[in-house]
Order: sequence, then C-alpha cells, then structure tokens
Amino acid sequence: MNNQNNKINNYSITADLINLIIFLAVAVIVGYLINNLVYSILIFLSIFIIYILYSNYVFERWVLNYKKNKSIEYHQKHQYLVSALNKSFEEFTTVKLKFNVLEKRFKELSASMPDAVVVVDNNFVTEWFNDAAIKMLSLKDIDIGRPILHLIRNPNFTKFINTKDRDTHVNFISPLKYDVTIKSFLVPYGEDRYLLTFRDVSESDHLDKMRRDFVANVSHELKTPLTVIFGYLETISLSDNKNVDQSILDQMLKQAKRMDIMISDLLKLTKLQTTNIPEKNFSPINLKNLVNELILACKQESNKNKNDIKILANDDIYIRGSYEEIYSAFLNLLLNAIMYSGKGATIEINYYVSNSKETIFSIKDYGVGIPLDSVNRLTERFYRVDKGRSREQGGTGLGLSIVKHIMNRHDGKLEVESIIGEGSNFSCVFPKSLLAMTSSKSTSDV
Ligand code: ADP
Repeated sequence: MNNQNNKINNYSITADLINLIIFLAVAVIVGYLINNLVYSILIFLSIFIIYILYSNYVFERWVLNYKKNKSIEYHQKHQYLVSALNKSFEEFTTVKLKFNVLEKRFKELSASMPDAVVVVDNNFVTEWFNDAAIKMLSLKDIDIGRPILHLIRNPNFTKFINTKDRDTHVNFISPLKYDVTIKSFLVPYGEDRYLLTFRDVSESDHLDKMRRDFVANVSHELKTPLTVIFGYLETISLSDNKNVDQSILDQMLKQAKRMDIMISDLLKLTKLQTTNIPEKNFSPINLKNLVNELILACKQESNKNKNDIKILANDDIYIRGSYEEIYSAFLNLLLNAIMYSGKGATIEINYYVSNSKETIFSIKDYGVGIPLDSVNRLTERFYRVDKGRSREQGGTGLGLSIVKHIMNRHDGKLEVESIIGEGSNFSCVFPKSLLAMTSSKSTSDV
C-alpha cells in the first residue's frame, strides 16, 4: 500500500514537474521571440496555475460524485489515484456488506431472545437494548444515554448496581407488573462495559414459593400430632409401667424428639426465607458478651467432649443485627465444631474488623474436616457429609442452611475453609454498614 502511495505521489508530482518544465521552456522560447522574457514567463505560469487548479477541481468533482455516477471523467494525471481509490471503495463496500449481514443477524438474534439485554457503560449509562427490553422493561429509544437506574426503579436492583462487591445476579419485582419477578445478571465485557440481562422468572419463583408453602404447611400439620404423641410417650415413660420395654420407649422418645427438632428447624427456615427482619429487631450486639453466652450455652457439650475453647479476640466490637438470629447462627457453628471434633480438641473463636471494615466472626476447629466437593453443598437443606454421624449426634442437616439464611438477611455471607483430617474454619462476614462500634485487641483463654 505504501509503495502504491509513493507511486501515486511520484506520478502526480512527476507529471506536474514535466508539465512545468514544458511550460517554462515554451515561455522562454516565446519570451525570446516577443523579446519580453518576464512577461512571457508570467503568462505561462498563470496558465500553468489555472491548469493545476482545473485538474484539482476535476478530481474533486470525481471524488464527490463517485457514488452517483461512476463513469464521471477525471484528469489523466490522476489515473493512479483514481484506480487506488476505486479499489478502496470496492473493499469498503464488501466490508460494509459483510457488516450489514452481521448486524442483521445480530438484530434478528437479539429480537428472538426472550431475555431483555441492555448494554451499559462503566457509569451504568444505557448504550443499547434489544426488543425484549422494550416489552419487559418498557424502555424507549430516547432512553439511550440515560442511567439505567433512572429507567428501572427498584430498591433491590439499585442496591445491586450500587454495591461494588455484588453477587452475579439479583431478583426483583417488575416495575410494570407486581406479579412478575425478574432475575437480572450483570456481566462485565470489553474494557469498560457491562451486559445486563433480565429474565422473567415468575414461574420458577412461583413454584419455589409453592414448595416453601408446602413445606411450611406440612410442618405445621405434623407439629400438633407429634406434640400429642410426644406428650403421651413422656407420660408412659415416667409412669413406671412394667409392661412396657423401657429401651423401646427410649428409642421412640428419641426419634419423636428428632422429628420435633426437624419440624421446628423447617418452620424456622421457612420463616427466614419468607420474611425480612423487622427494623425494630435490629440492635447493637456486643460480640464479646455474645461469645461468653455461647460458651455458657455449649458448656454441657464442650465439657463432655473436653474441648479447649479459645477466644482469640477481646475487642469491644458491636454489630447491628437481630440478636436472636445471630445468636442462633453462631451457636449452630459452635455446636458443629464441638460435634465434628475429636475429644479434647481445641476450638478457636475469633472476631475482628477487616481493612475493608467488614466484621468477621469465625469458629475454627481441628476436627474431621470436610472434603472439597462437599464444601459448596453444606448449606443445602438436609445435606450431610457423613449422614450416619450426623443422625447419631442428633443433627438435622438444616443447621448450616439456617446460618446461611440468617447471614443473607444481614447482607452478610458464610465462608467455609476446610482441609479433610485437619479441621474447618467457618466465618460469618458482616458488611461495613452493620459495624456499630469497635475498640482495641488482646488475647485470652477460657
Ligand atoms: P447437621 O445437623 O447434620 O450438623 P448442618 O447443616 O449443621 O447439619 O451441617 C451439615 C453438614 O456439614 C454436617 O452433617 C456435617 O457433615 C458438615 N459439617 C458441619 N460443620 C462441620 C464441622 N465443623 N466440621 C466438619 N463437618 C461439618
């Protein structure tokens, strides 16, 4: 291409230079003939300038009218330039055609997509959206260039967009129809853009609600007869009846108690999933005092197992939350640590404020540990790594699911690190917004 350009330039300049020399030669000859060299040169130079201007005009006309009339005339000296431009125009037309086909396919594809797709820049300003976004979110062409938060007004969605350490998706009620639930995913792409997708998940949301209602209803219905059976069994057990085998009665009582705990846990889980914490239940919680209460509550189990419970922090850290729920979550983790550690094992309780002002509460044990492929499944309902051991110890397989929901309700998360045979570390991470107060650090033993 460079070579060609040089050729083009050489050709134009060469042609002009040859013409100039011819003009000057003729001017000199004519000047001698008329005996006025200066006059002659001036006239011939003027003609040469007019010739240059005219040829430029012809070329300009050719370029500007190329699209309308391809057979328009051009000056011979621009032959190379015209051929090169012709070639470029043809290449450009081919690329444009290919681009048009691609654009058409992309538009057809995005139009047939059931999901709404919106492209936003790194300031969440709308750049493009597909047809489904017009129907699902009522977006209009004039919305291009407007911040997405001005177009979709929903507290959950706003919080999702404004949080830096956000999840991959959020569910929210459609701003247009209260019975439609939308699930939105945010995916970064390119250097400074995001792709937002919106899917109508009302049906699966409805099924999920039906499932939760079903579990709640069955649990409610089972609770009453079970309480009656439990009551009778206890009465028979205490009545010193010689006709009844005490070991069978003990087994019946044990199983009835297990069922009762399981039903209570299921009801608790349903409540956690279907409600929000009332604002009045949020209070400042002193973690130091809470830890002392937890240790007291587990005294019987930890004494039985001869655990050495160490508190690695002594800060006066206050977080805001539901005392009842956080107490229940931490107690669950501590009882698990005792349950899944060997006799005499050490358990470490720690809590601190991280650099990013998150409050971390962790319980570390040196027990059986959890296989890697089970770590991500621990918070599923009824998931147990060792079913036999869990049942034997009276576990329901619902404890960590309850902990996860309690953390979700506090905008926090449960993190698990574990090495099989070495132990586990369960951390509850509370967001910066829930940190109420903090002071200095030291270490103590219980
Ligand atoms: P469970 O009532 O069975 O303890 P959880 O939901 O509390 O139910 O725990 C689920 C499973 O996770 C347990 O069955 C157990 O296999 C595993 N697990 C929980 N905590 C620990 C721990 N500290 N160490 C090892 N395994 C644990």
